[in-house]
Amino acid sequence: MNMNILAKIKRGLSTQKHLYFLFGVLFIIPNCVLFVTDPMPVTVGIASIIIPLAVWFGVLLLSRKPGIIVWILLPKVILDGGQLVLLYLFGESVIAVDMYLNLISSNASEASELLGNIFLVIICVFLFYTLPTLCLAFYSVKIKDSLPDVFRKKWGKISLLLLMAGVLSGCLSFLQGNTFSVKKDIYPANAIYNLYFAFDKANRNKNYHLTSANFTFHATKPVQVNNNREIYVLLVGETARAMEWSLYGYERETTPHMDKLSGLVYFKDVITQSNNTHKSVPIILSAASAEDYDILYQKKSIITAFKEAGFHTVAIVNQKLTGSLISTFYREADTYIDMSTFNTGSYLTSLHDDAILPYLQKEVDDAEGNLFIVLHTYGSHFNYYERYSKEFAFYTPDKAEGIRATCKTKLRNAYDNSILFTDYVLGEVVNILEKSGACSSMLYLSDHGEDIFDDARARYLHASPIPTYYQLHIPYIIWFSDNYQRDYPEKYQQALKHKAWPVSTNSVFHTMLDIAGIETKEADPSLSLTNEAFIVRDRMYLDDHDDPIPFWKVGLKKLDFEMMDKWNISYDK
Ligand SMILES: [Zn+2]
Repeated sequence: MNMNILAKIKRGLSTQKHLYFLFGVLFIIPNCVLFVTDPMPVTVGIASIIIPLAVWFGVLLLSRKPGIIVWILLPKVILDGGQLVLLYLFGESVIAVDMYLNLISSNASEASELLGNIFLVIICVFLFYTLPTLCLAFYSVKIKDSLPDVFRKKWGKISLLLLMAGVLSGCLSFLQGNTFSVKKDIYPANAIYNLYFAFDKANRNKNYHLTSANFTFHATKPVQVNNNREIYVLLVGETARAMEWSLYGYERETTPHMDKLSGLVYFKDVITQSNNTHKSVPIILSAASAEDYDILYQKKSIITAFKEAGFHTVAIVNQKLTGSLISTFYREADTYIDMSTFNTGSYLTSLHDDAILPYLQKEVDDAEGNLFIVLHTYGSHFNYYERYSKEFAFYTPDKAEGIRATCKTKLRNAYDNSILFTDYVLGEVVNILEKSGACSSMLYLSDHGEDIFDDARARYLHASPIPTYYQLHIPYIIWFSDNYQRDYPEKYQQALKHKAWPVSTNSVFHTMLDIAGIETKEADPSLSLTNEAFIVRDRMYLDDHDDPIPFWKVGLKKLDFEMMDKWNISYDK
């Protein structure tokens, strides 16, 4: 019986006609998987399979030996492999712009942390998809048989008909009020378009110093408190999620310092505009937002606004950001301390965030006038276990063997310890500001959250093409010193008033300027949490092509909406 089947397969493969059909089917496997994993209107889904099928059936006819065409299309076969690997890892989505960009911008340690997990998947896809396809193509080139002209003519016509049917289905989707475009909806056109988009974006980043050269905020600070200097700190956190803070209601005590800090206002319902550091932090540091992201390349960062208003500006950064727009922003500061270049003794680890504190203390001691400081931490970035010193290993065991669902308890312990450590660092920053006697305030938020095998989806890390609740809901706090509350009581009151309002990361730039009393035409009081003009608007998420999309429409699942209800996150349906 078995011999019979084998013989049949062999006989089936021995003709070019059969190989032709087989290649056509192999070529649209990624399309079929995407059809199942990615939510799309039926008409778009049908078009996304029939159009490429028609094209490949047509193209494969160009040679009497279709294997030759497969070899010519080797880059596509390789791309298909990459696409299947990502589908396995994320369970959805075409290769995104961010993934291409992350390939360029990730540092060695991040890549090596992830590569261990991806390696097995890559091997499997290669053995069960790429290699068999190429072997069959090789076989097709070798055998004497070739496609008869009658067959090619007939299937040429069928391909054309199929193509027309696919286009018709695409047109029908317009009639139903949906959008449909080849560059967004049809694989591999969308994957190739995303590659082009990534190159274009990298180029715009590179030319930022030219496109923003003539920009000025015309920023001023009309009011200065009597005989006292003012110090403002913007602390950019990393990968912290609000649900893991006892301040926000987490059952474990993870933020003891913030829990009892007087003058602290915490905003309960804050959603990040991106789950990717390299898109989220530029929004935090500038007037750009998901709604209007492209102004990023024309304008300078918040550091320049403070500088123009007479502040001495400092950026102390404990994260490797070399070559990114974020580090370009930090270079605008009078003093830029890049701690990622310090020798830690091992190239795989970075310094713990408390290493920032002595530098902060020195800047506060040395400067005489008004001071604006951006601190960029490494917070709770994977590997969590490496983010805190051993005295903070409160929840144990915390040393996970790898990033696997079976290690969830250990990962979660380590993650909670990293939050404890962040809480300690925040407390120390507040101590330094308080001791200075200045009129001061600190705004802290995280750039995005994180997945840690939280539900049946077994998702982990962040920056996936479609986010989850866990990647979106971030901690966002502002501490006001006693002096600040005395000198600017109305701003503190306004912050308190807005603590439960729906907020996004696009508020940081405007809030920070408002706290410091800086005036510029770029500041929008209706986005400032300390201003009575603050208004609630639909919260947008920055999609893969840098366009805004309401965050509840990015492809969140039922499990995400359940969590949002649990944590009182407001959204429209
Ligand atoms: Zn980040």
